[in-house]
Amino acid sequence: MLRPFELSEPTSVAEASELLARHGDAARIYAGGTELILAMKEGLVHYEHLVNVKTIPGLAGVRLDAGTLRLGAATSHRALERDPLVRQHFPAVARMEADVANVRVREVGTLGGNLCFAEPHADPGTLLQVFDATARIEKKGSARTIPLEGLFVGPFETCLEGDELLTEIVVPPLPSRSAAAYLKFGFLERPSVGVAVAVTLDDGHVADARIAVGCVGPVPRRMREAEAELRGKPRTETGAALATAGRIAGRAADAITDLHGSAEYKEHLVGVLLRRAWDQALAAIDGSPRR
Ligand SMILES: Cc1cc2nc3c(=O)[nH]c(=O)nc-3n(C[C@H](O)[C@H](O)[C@H](O)COP(=O)(O)OP(=O)(O)OC[C@H]3O[C@@H](n4cnc5c(N)ncnc54)[C@H](O)[C@@H]3O)c2cc1C
Repeated sequence: MLRPFELSEPTSVAEASELLARHGDAARIYAGGTELILAMKEGLVHYEHLVNVKTIPGLAGVRLDAGTLRLGAATSHRALERDPLVRQHFPAVARMEADVANVRVREVGTLGGNLCFAEPHADPGTLLQVFDATARIEKKGSARTIPLEGLFVGPFETCLEGDELLTEIVVPPLPSRSAAAYLKFGFLERPSVGVAVAVTLDDGHVADARIAVGCVGPVPRRMREAEAELRGKPRTETGAALATAGRIAGRAADAITDLHGSAEYKEHLVGVLLRRAWDQALAAIDGSPRR
C-alpha cells in the first residue's frame, strides 16, 4: 500500500535542490515514478517528500547543438523514440528507446529516471556510453559534467549527492564513416544482456571501435581492453579479433549468476551479441551516404 507523502512541484533546478537539501534522506526526486512509486507501493522504500522534476521548465526536451544531441533528463522514453532529430541523427538511440520496457512505461518513464535508478538491467546507460555521452549534474549554486560511465557506482547506486539532480545527457556525434548498434537479449521483464558497439572505418580499416556491456554485471561499462583488439584491423579480417574481444568483454563485465542466467551463459552471450552488433554497425555504415 502506498503510504501518504508530500509532493512538491518546484519550477527551477535550484528550488528542487533546495527542497532535497532541506528534507535530506526523507526526500527523493520523482520523475515518471515507474520505479519509485512501484518501490514505495511495495513498501521497499518510503519517502515523506517527493520532488517532482517534471514541473521544471526546460528539463524535458531534445536539442541538436552543432551535431551534439542534448537530452533533458526528464524526457520520456517515448518522446525520445519518436523524436525526429534523434531518429535522423542518432538512429541507434531511437531504436534502443523504442525497445525499452513497454509503451506504458515508455510514455511516462524518463531517461533521467532510468539512469539515476541505476537498475543494472537497463538499456540506455550501455548504448549512450559508446557515444562518449556525458551527464550534466546540478545543484543549487553549482554544476558539474561527468562522463556517463562515472554516474554508475553500483546496482541502484549513483555518484549523485543528496541535493543534486541529473539535468542533461549530452551525446556527441560519432565521426564520419561511423555507426552504432545495440543488441539485447532477455526472457524476463527486463534485459539480461546488452551489448553496444560504435565502429568507425577509415580506408577499409577499423579506425575506432567502442564497446559497452550492460545488464550482466553491477554497472554498464565500456570495455576498453576489448576495443583495443579491434582497432587498426582490416574490416574484412576482424573475425578472430571479435572472438577475442568477446571473451575479454565477457570476463570484464563481472557477470553475476541470477534469475537471468549463469555468469558463464551471460559471458557467452556477450560474445554472440558483440559479433551481431558489430555486423549491424558495419551494415549501417555501408548503407549510409559516404561523407
Ligand atoms: C515493467 C517494466 C519494464 C522495464 N523494462 C525496461 C527495459 O527493458 N529496459 C530499460 O532500460 N528499462 C526498463 N525499465 C525501467 C524503466 O525504463 C524505468 O522504470 C524508467 O525509465 C524510470 O524513469 P522514471 O522517470 O519513471 O523514474 P522514477 O521512478 O521517477 O525515478 C527513478 C529514480 O531516479 C531518481 N531520479 C529520477 N529523475 C532524476 C533526476 N533527473 N535526477 C536525479 N535523480 C532522478 C528518482 O529519485 C528515483 O530514485 C522497466 C520498468 C518497468 C516497470
